[in-house]
Amino acid sequence: MPLVHIKTYGCQMNERDTEQVSQMFVERGYTMTARDEDADVVLINTCSVRDQAEQKALGKMGMVRRRRTPLVTGFMGCMAQSRGSELVSKANVDLVVGTQKYHRVVDYVDEIIRAKEAKQMDDERFSIVDVEEEVASQNTIRDHTLKEKQASAFVSIMQGCNMKCTFCIVPYTRGGERGRPIADILEEVKRLADRGVKEVTLLGQIVNLYGRHEFPAVDGKSPFVQLLEAVHEVPGIQRIRFTSPHPIGYKKDLIEAFTYLPKLAEHVHLPVQSGSDAILKRMHRPYTAAKFTELVQRIREARPDIAVTTDVIVGFPGETEENYLETRQMFENIGFDNAFVFRYSKRRGTPAAEMEESTQVPERVKEERNQDLLGLVNRIALPMYDALVGKEVEILCEGPSKTNDQRLTGRTGSNRIVVFDGNPERHTGEIFKVRIAEAGHFTLFGDPVLHA
Ligand code: SF4
Repeated sequence: MPLVHIKTYGCQMNERDTEQVSQMFVERGYTMTARDEDADVVLINTCSVRDQAEQKALGKMGMVRRRRTPLVTGFMGCMAQSRGSELVSKANVDLVVGTQKYHRVVDYVDEIIRAKEAKQMDDERFSIVDVEEEVASQNTIRDHTLKEKQASAFVSIMQGCNMKCTFCIVPYTRGGERGRPIADILEEVKRLADRGVKEVTLLGQIVNLYGRHEFPAVDGKSPFVQLLEAVHEVPGIQRIRFTSPHPIGYKKDLIEAFTYLPKLAEHVHLPVQSGSDAILKRMHRPYTAAKFTELVQRIREARPDIAVTTDVIVGFPGETEENYLETRQMFENIGFDNAFVFRYSKRRGTPAAEMEESTQVPERVKEERNQDLLGLVNRIALPMYDALVGKEVEILCEGPSKTNDQRLTGRTGSNRIVVFDGNPERHTGEIFKVRIAEAGHFTLFGDPVLHA
């Protein structure tokens, strides 16, 4: 059977979708390969969050085809959804599959291979483009390809987003919010636990607003909190994470959940995007800087050891120096454990891309703000790492470190990376304590604690 390679760009949801499609290929008898040079079928799962990500995917496909033309080439994911059939001619691929049709990919590849075999008699190029919507497509991302001793897995609980932040393409590429039934998600988590998984990360574009259009609140608890409680009951699951939440989804019931669900990891990633009310308004983010700050306080009161990380955009159209300084001040006030700082770049097809040219912030200014904020994030976060030296932290070991395969790596509940010397056979996939000996740049180094 042909060898298949899927290159993935973008977010964890894309990674998860690729895993699902890979599993479907394997079930159909195909073999997955990590090297595109060896593959008969090369697919790229694309991201549209920035124009740059699209250029990368197109460049990669061009490189694959220059080296050798595989039997089947194709794009899936967000760029496939937004560009559709244009990609067939532009990138000369056989297949374009949108974000609601992952479950059809293997059938389409089969079909293209059959057509190519038969084509010997026909000159016409055969291609398939499917970017239609499909009811209940969110329920098709549910199978896993687990590596040996893999103890952490992502579970996709919903698709799409209705929020329409002005910089974001997601509502146009992934459609409106659609949640999976709790029973289906629970079934998937139980299957993972039976296979040795100890940590699940629930995934959704606005994960904490899960199910708000489909399922009722029960005893004042939102569908998301009901789901957390149900997953918490699954034997074998020891840590629960979720990403990416929206600040407005942190209602009282979710904050309270951190007080009585000990398996909820002590980390929240809470994208703020800006600390200026004027810019938040232009971004169509429905909260103020003061409300956000108060929310972080309430979460910290509920779980004092919790780590709070964020995403922020600098140089959004109309951001004045004063607006930027408001963001800076908010960062000083809150003291995030870490932050991903993005320089605004125009994303075709979003409302922000249409904002008046005169409001665009010059690249030089964006870069200055980016560097300044990154410097501040480091200055605030690094002492938090230093403070852990000499302490014991509990980690889930993920296996050999990506940068040094002689050492092992794991994550604390607060999502800090810990690197240590250990035994891959004994430690991978296990939860245990490590004593921290040294703190580096957003990384801790230590030794496993041996208890008598
Ligand atoms: S909430 Fe997130 S996914 Fe939805 S539009 Fe805003 S940034 Fe995009």
